[in-house]
Amino acid sequence: MTVKGQSWGRYPRADQRLIALTDRHAPLPSFEGSALPHGNGRSYGDSCLNHDGTLLHTRGLDRLIAFDPATGVLRCEAGVLLADILDFAVAQGWFLPVTPGTKFVTVGGAIANDVHGKNHHVAGCFSEWVNGFELLRSDGSRRWCSPSENADWFAATAGGLGLTGVITWAELRLRRVRGAWMNVETHRFSRLREFLQLSAASESDYEYTVAWIDCAARGDRLGRGHFIRANHAPAGDGPARPRRRLAVPVTPPVSLINSLSLRAFNTLYYHRQRGRVAHALTHYEPYFYPLDSIGDWNRIYGRRGFLQYQCVVPPEDAEHTLTDLIEQIADSGTGSFLAVLKMFGQRRSAGILSFPRPGATLALDFPNDGHATFELLERLDDVVAAAGGAVYPAKDARMRADRFRAYFPAWETLRPYLDPRFSSGFWRRVTE
Ligand SMILES: Cc1cc2nc3c(=O)[nH]c(=O)nc-3n(C[C@H](O)[C@H](O)[C@H](O)COP(=O)(O)OP(=O)(O)OC[C@H]3O[C@@H](n4cnc5c(N)ncnc54)[C@H](O)[C@@H]3O)c2cc1C
Repeated sequence: MTVKGQSWGRYPRADQRLIALTDRHAPLPSFEGSALPHGNGRSYGDSCLNHDGTLLHTRGLDRLIAFDPATGVLRCEAGVLLADILDFAVAQGWFLPVTPGTKFVTVGGAIANDVHGKNHHVAGCFSEWVNGFELLRSDGSRRWCSPSENADWFAATAGGLGLTGVITWAELRLRRVRGAWMNVETHRFSRLREFLQLSAASESDYEYTVAWIDCAARGDRLGRGHFIRANHAPAGDGPARPRRRLAVPVTPPVSLINSLSLRAFNTLYYHRQRGRVAHALTHYEPYFYPLDSIGDWNRIYGRRGFLQYQCVVPPEDAEHTLTDLIEQIADSGTGSFLAVLKMFGQRRSAGILSFPRPGATLALDFPNDGHATFELLERLDDVVAAAGGAVYPAKDARMRADRFRAYFPAWETLRPYLDPRFSSGFWRRVTE
């Protein structure tokens, strides 16, 4: 069956054949042309799309295989969602050691993008907590890949964008927590220098650090925002939690995000906190996954969808480079409600193509306004490339091939590990 598919950014669209995988012991089904494993489609651009090819849907590989409540070691199939892991683990005092900003991603997708969270400076990437996984190739071969066994395959597949084969199941190490609650401290800051100072001062005592930036502010307000640092609460209990699940019921024909709504929202959001510092005891769900409570929020950008831009720039000149980026974004009058800024730590990932590296990472969503949006993102690329930074493939739908090769100079070392029958829209765009 050929269906139109799209990723989380709803841009671009691809015609693809879908095949569901449901049995981890079974050989790969036969397919024509190229194939690509697919998790839960929470990547934004075309790294999880395969126009004119096949998608191997892995959500049917959804079994938990074994869990040791004494050590926190979990074996599960690759299509299990992080949400499913949290549902059974938190009650037993265990938590994901690294989580992205949505819990609706699969274990296979988290490994293939080697995702990071707000604790990169202390916990590194997702793969750091993976004891190993089984990799099934289109020639029928199966390999156990771990940091000590087939370590080269482990490095190629962690962050390998699904191009080395299908991960069928994995063994992860969870981390201890006392309960579901977080101690959260929010500092309002008025310039980027303050953000950098707060980040540096929080590194050793706070496990989670991240900031929201007002990307519409200009002049002497440029670089203002909220810095949020947190630790798991030592107490097992917290206040009753209101449960609300909102949804965007239809896709509006045009984006609801425009320069007026953006500026008004950002100004209100910046001033929502009266004092400079606020404390709260917060449940982990709204803390880690604020957008997960709004079903299909990606629809608010309208039928043309949106593009996310996440980059990392080296720490030495971060203030100057970030100022340059935010000025370009503010001048364009476009940008997202949620502009997220964080300092990555020094921890090196095992993955050849893993995105995090030391420095400041900035992530924003842009409504797809066609030419103007693509031109703006090219200009941002100019700044990032000149600074020696990189753009995140999991969020990308348009970076040029020469940029990708400059951002990921080790990309060619992946070649011997690529499955000859696997490909993606992203990979063809940046390597052919
Ligand atoms: C609201 C939101 C917040 C996010 N926050 C973050 C964040 O903080 N940090 C971060 O790093 N990312 C973040 N992301 C991106 C997201 O975490 C990653 O794109 C993640 O990899 C998506 O997983 P998925 O299961 O949906 O996989 P998909 O998007 O379907 O696929 C991702 C990649 O994994 C491959 N793949 C999937 N399953 C397998 C398998 N079984 N075997 C081999 N390859 C496979 C695919 O081929 C593809 O290349 C966020 C996304 C959203 C929507």
